[in-house]
Order: sequence, then structure tokens, then C-alpha cells
Amino acid sequence: MVNIILFGAPGCGKGTQAARLAEHYDLYHISTGEVIRSEIKRGTELGKSMEGYISRGELAPDSIVVEMVRDYMRTHSDKGCIFDGFPRTTAQAEIFDTMLEEMGSKVDVMVYMDVPEEELVKRILLRGKDSGRADDASEDVIRNRIDIYREQTAIVAHHYAAQDKYAKIDGLGTFDEVFHRLTEVIDEHHK
Ligand code: ADP
Repeated sequence: MVNIILFGAPGCGKGTQAARLAEHYDLYHISTGEVIRSEIKRGTELGKSMEGYISRGELAPDSIVVEMVRDYMRTHSDKGCIFDGFPRTTAQAEIFDTMLEEMGSKVDVMVYMDVPEEELVKRILLRGKDSGRADDASEDVIRNRIDIYREQTAIVAHHYAAQDKYAKIDGLGTFDEVFHRLTEVIDEHHK
């Protein structure tokens, strides 16, 4: 059983690689962004409370996001999982570690996918053309997400580096090249 955090700025390719890694290692895949978008689409109270944050490119409140993950884990703990877009703050990481510990589990590795900012913006704008995601269509919102990533999220790397669970890969290259780099570091961490 292996729990992997895929980490990196918006647009670094986490979602695409997470889906393929989940298949390759037979793991669950949770994207907190996807869970939030599905709540919004279904018009739930939870969704309504998060709409504003997402459209401005801000983070949703820690307490809400953590409860979403806790809820997911209740029915998805029989095998390991890829966490995509979570944890995004140190507070989320701390609660997450405790949550896993209570379940007799742990994070095995956080892999950071390194992609330069200009490439991120380019990729997100391109994705926005067919994803229909409003937060992908405006360059202002995209820059805001990247700024927030730098201010609040990048620091989460230190949290896992301090536990010797941090690895970094180059996120530039073809889909297959990046996938290969990811499997190399993941295999290294759960031999
Ligand atoms: P991206 O990685 O391109 O930003 P995501 O689908 O991961 O896309 O996230 C979309 C939005 O959902 C984020 O901008 C943020 O508002 C919200 N979100 C997702 N995960 C979290 C989280 N762990 N904590 C707070 N907000 C989150």
C-alpha cells in the first residue's frame, strides 16, 4: 500500500499524470479540485459555499477541504491513493498526517513536478479552451492561483522534506518522459 502526493503549481500536469499513475500502481486517485467542481456542478450547499473561492483563484477553506478528504477516505482506504492538489497548506498537511496515522497509514512520498511559470500559464490557457473551466480562461485568475501557490502552497514541500519524503522531478518534456521520471522516484521510495 502506497500513498503518494503529487505536488506542483497549477498547470504542472498533476491531474493527467495522477490518472495514469493510479492505473499503473492500482491506486485510488483523489483530486480535491475535481471534488469541489463536482459539488459546484451538483449545486450542493457545500458547492455553493466554495464557488467564490474557486472563481477568484483562491484556496477553499482548510476545514472544508480536509473534511472532503476525510469523507473520501472512509470509503477508499482498502488500497493506497494518489493525492492530487492536496494538501495545499501546511495546516492541511498537519491534519492529513494525523488523519492517516489514525487509520494506521502514512504518506510515502511527495513528488514535486517542476515547471517554469510561463509554461504553466501557457498550458492552463490552452486547457481552458476545451475544459470549460472558468478559472482556466482568465490570465488574471491564473496568475492569482500561481501567486497563492507560491505564498501558501510551495512551503508544504518543507513539511515532507523534513520527514525525508520529498522528491523533485523535471515536469518539462513529453507525457511519457514525465511519467517515466515519476515512476522512477516512486519505485525508489517504496521498495
Ligand atoms: P489547479 O491545480 O490547476 O489549480 P485544481 O483542480 O487542483 O486545479 O484546483 C482548482 C481550485 O480548487 C483551486 O484553485 C482552489 O480554489 C480549489 N482547491 C483544490 N484543492 C484545494 C485544497 N487542497 N485546498 C484549498 N483549495 C483547493
